[in-house]
Formats: sequence, C-alpha cells, structure tokens
Amino acid sequence: MSYILLKNCRELLTVREDAKDLIGLLKNKSLLIEDENIKKIDDYENIIQDIGDEEYREIDCSDKVVMPGYVDSHTHLIFGKSRVDEYVASLTMNSEEVKKTVGRVGLASSIYSTKNATDEELVESSLIKLNRMLESGTTTVEIKSGYGIDKDVELRQLRLLNKVREKTPQTIFSTYLGAHYYDEKMGKEKYIDFMIKEVMPIVKEEKLAQFSDVWIDDGYYTAKEAEKILTAGMDFGMVPSMHTECYSAIGGVKLAVEIDAANAGHLNYLTLDDTKLLANSNVVGILIPGTDFSVKHPRPFNPRPMIEEGMKIAIATNLNPGNWVESMQFAMALACRNHGMTEKEALRAATLGGAQALRIDDKVGSLEEGKIADIQIVNSDSYKNCVYKLAVNEVESIIKNGEVIF
Ligand SMILES: [Zn+2]
Repeated sequence: MSYILLKNCRELLTVREDAKDLIGLLKNKSLLIEDENIKKIDDYENIIQDIGDEEYREIDCSDKVVMPGYVDSHTHLIFGKSRVDEYVASLTMNSEEVKKTVGRVGLASSIYSTKNATDEELVESSLIKLNRMLESGTTTVEIKSGYGIDKDVELRQLRLLNKVREKTPQTIFSTYLGAHYYDEKMGKEKYIDFMIKEVMPIVKEEKLAQFSDVWIDDGYYTAKEAEKILTAGMDFGMVPSMHTECYSAIGGVKLAVEIDAANAGHLNYLTLDDTKLLANSNVVGILIPGTDFSVKHPRPFNPRPMIEEGMKIAIATNLNPGNWVESMQFAMALACRNHGMTEKEALRAATLGGAQALRIDDKVGSLEEGKIADIQIVNSDSYKNCVYKLAVNEVESIIKNGEVIF
C-alpha cells in the first residue's frame, strides 16, 4: 500500500452529489489517499491514528485549495491545423468576407487539414493540448472524431486516440462523431447507412469508441435520422450523446430522453418544456460557454431555468479549431459572467457534472471515500478565484489515479 496525506486543507471541496452548498466545502480537513483511491476525509489527528506505522507522503495544504480534477466532457481536440486566420478575420468581418479572405473555412477546413496531417502530427498536437489541460486541472477528457465524415479519417482519428490514451496521464474517452455532418456527394440517407454498415462494425471490433454522437439541428440531422444512427451505435456498444438545440429546436432533446442519452450539448434553443423533460431524465445537459463566446452566439444558452428545474448540467470546453478553449477555468469564468451562473454552480458543473455527463460519477468528479483520487491542489486562498482571476492558472499540483503527476 502507498499513502499520500493532504494535510489540513485550507479549503477542501468534496463536490458530493448531496452537498447542500453544491460544492461540499470543508475547512481544515485532511484527505488520505491509499494507492489510487481516496481512503478517508477527516481531521488530521484521526487520519494519523488510522495510518499507524505505515509510511506515507505528507503534503501540507494549509494554504491550498484541494478539489476534484476537472472532467471535460465534450471536446474535438484531435485535428489537423488551427483556424487562426479564420478566427482573427471574423473579429472584424462578416462570414462572406471571411470566406473570401481565407478560402476554406469551418468544418471543411478542419476536414482538409486533418486528412492531410500525419499520424504523428495528430498525436503530438493532441498531447500538447492535453498536457496544458492537465496543467490547468483537467484530469478526464472526452474527445470526438468528426473531421473525416468518411471511413478512413474517422477511424484514423479514433485509432490515434487509443495511442494518445497510452501517452497521457489523463483518462480519455473516445466518441465516434461520423455524424458531425454528412458526405454531400453520397447524400445523407446513404451516408447514414454507410456509417452503420461500414464504419460502426469496425469501431466495435477494434474497441475504438465508448460514445457515439450526432449533430441534430436545421441543416444537419433530424431527430429521426439521429435516432437511427444513435440506436445503431447502441447496438455496437456505444453510449449515445448529441450536439443539439444549438441553432434550432427540432426534437433532439426529446430523442435524448427517449433513448436515454448520456448527454446533450449546447442547448441554446432549449425550451422550458424540454428543460422539464431533461430534468426528469438521466440526460446531462452540457453547456459550452466558450463556443457562445468565440462564435458570438446570437442566443447564448440560459442556465437559470435548467438549474431551477433541477437539470443535471456540465460545463465543457468543446475545444475545437473554431473555439480554441483548453481551460475549464476559462469556461467556468465565462459561464459565470456571460451566463449568470454562480461560482459554485460552475465549479460543480465542471467536476461532478462532467463526470455525470460521461457516466463515471461513481468513480470521479467528487472527493469521497472509495472514489479514484483525481485531485487538483490549487495555490490559492479561495476556490472562488477560479472564476475571478481570469486566465490565471493557480493549479500547483495534480494527483491522478492516486499518483502525484506534478
Ligand atoms: Zn462539439
């Protein structure tokens, strides 16, 4: 057995599901890690007695905040090139002018650059992002394919994610997002069959993805089409998830509830009726403040009715070339200032909420006895600084699976 004792934490946020203050704030408590799990949270003297003669490593946390690692439940971080020229052009130009200036834009641009990137480039660039995310507190990351809209590149993205997983300390979940869009030459109907018959069997056979995902919106997939794709995905062992209600409300949320999707992301156009539906389901709403910010969304999501109705919510970065957000702290800061969330709501959504969105909240997302020790130690006098000190990273140390990474 190996033991790590986080001694006398100035603030310890358990973020337990039943925490009345949402974040389970404790002061001057200590936390004992045994191998990869949290063994006990208690007063220092009691823990010391329990350890007895065993050897342990002690980390003084009397001027630190100790909290769960962030769970980023929605990203697209494996891609070819950045779209920096498109982004900076969009700061002063409308979309027509941007297109004229930079040529290939949006998804088409990312598909092109991902297709033309080497395996090494895709793996390396993913690891660079993941490492920075780890440094700012993110210990679990979901990553989608979706920059191929074909067979080869989609499978290549997922296969490379299996390599990425071996090379990073973070826990990585992979999602097959062939339905990010569709092959216009093939036509949508044929492309749906193609995904189901040609791609999904290989995803299953090679164990390439834990989740499947569809973009449900006007101009993308209808709820009916998504149902066909996601239920087929379930037959191939993938848990359904979705992008929906981003630019229209065409039934995505109802489908999410019907098929018991793990999560539904964006939700800018979520109606009150659908909010209630979600609140009475297991589906977690993933909120993406970074995207609403970087695309200057005409209708930013409104978390207040979701929270009032009792919906489970997560905050995610949605890191992608059109929205380069790696930091969960930045996403939380935006959620608070731009969307009116409280710091406690944001913090819970970024930790426990993310874990619920990936259905791993029995293991991570909160600090409780028996759970995996995925912990950030923050060099700060208050947890509130994580939404106050904008773009300041005060994370000092990360413990992942009970191991001090830095
Ligand atoms: Zn997305």
